[in-house]
Amino acid sequence: MIILLKREANKEDVRRLREDLMERGFSLHESTGTVESLIGVVGDTSTLDIGTIEARDCVDQVKRIAEPYKSVNRKMHPENTVIDVRGHKFGDGSLQIIAGPCSVETEEQIMSTARAVKEAGATMLRGGAFKPRTSPYAFQGLEADGIKLLLKAREETGLPIVTEIMGVEDLPLFEDIDVIQVGARNMQNFKLLKALGKVKKPILLKRGLANTIEELLMSAEYITAGGNAEVILCERGIRTFETMTRNTLDISAVSLMKQKSHLPVCADPSHATGILSLIEPMSLSLIVAGADALEIEVHCTPTRALSDGSQQLTPTAFTELMVNIRKMAEFLGRKIG
Ligand code: PEP
Ligand code: MN
Repeated sequence: MIILLKREANKEDVRRLREDLMERGFSLHESTGTVESLIGVVGDTSTLDIGTIEARDCVDQVKRIAEPYKSVNRKMHPENTVIDVRGHKFGDGSLQIIAGPCSVETEEQIMSTARAVKEAGATMLRGGAFKPRTSPYAFQGLEADGIKLLLKAREETGLPIVTEIMGVEDLPLFEDIDVIQVGARNMQNFKLLKALGKVKKPILLKRGLANTIEELLMSAEYITAGGNAEVILCERGIRTFETMTRNTLDISAVSLMKQKSHLPVCADPSHATGILSLIEPMSLSLIVAGADALEIEVHCTPTRALSDGSQQLTPTAFTELMVNIRKMAEFLGRKIG
């Protein structure tokens, strides 16, 4: 961290700042120029609050040099983290395809969708039992019954289950779930993230609607710092001024997160675009960008879906998409599964 001092800084204030930092165990490297005077602070500065230092009379500006995320930083752990979910790996170069409906609605709906995505080549089943809906009057999910239906679908198809948690109090219901998803709206639910740090299960952490990549990495850090190293980051589009797509898919975030962090990266072209005709080109682009997994919404009868009907692929469209996903994976030398 570098502290730029004001030109007119009072010597006594600077002495006190220096003393406070040294008392906290930091070593200081100072440079006094005719125009600018700087203090370089060396040590683990992640606990230092920039605003508090900037509030001192003698300080002009504070700049962080090191990234604030530590355990998820690739600099700390150059090798990819590989997460194994019932033999399907995230982060070892293979590609996982997580497909299924937005919401679990009925037994017949989840079972027929699960069979169809399995048949088409999906490697995991998604489906929301707890649904974060913008309107309190919209379908809120089957909750505990939805979880039971997902487990039934796993029993029949063998597909591991990915499903979203909305509150810490529901954690006991997720005991048999394979991957716990934290949705975009809960990316900064720090209490939930801390609780998931104590869980021995992979967490699929989706980027918030208006969050930076660094904020997503800091949220992942909450989980890893708590003791759970198995976090999969997920790009799902962010809010911009654009209105033609549901969100703006930040494809560069996928490549950048792979560079900045050792954690596997998933991407969700369904919520990112909200447009059926964009799912295939974005899926293929995301694979090229280095995504370890794709999460895609598929519904046996999208026209009757209780949520996100317009962005869910039919089983036929998903089967066609999988043909091209397979071609792209093969071209890049990546195995699906
Ligand atoms: C979902 O995957 O069901 C979902 C609600 O996505 P997001 O949190 O990205 O909006
Ligand atoms: Mn959805």
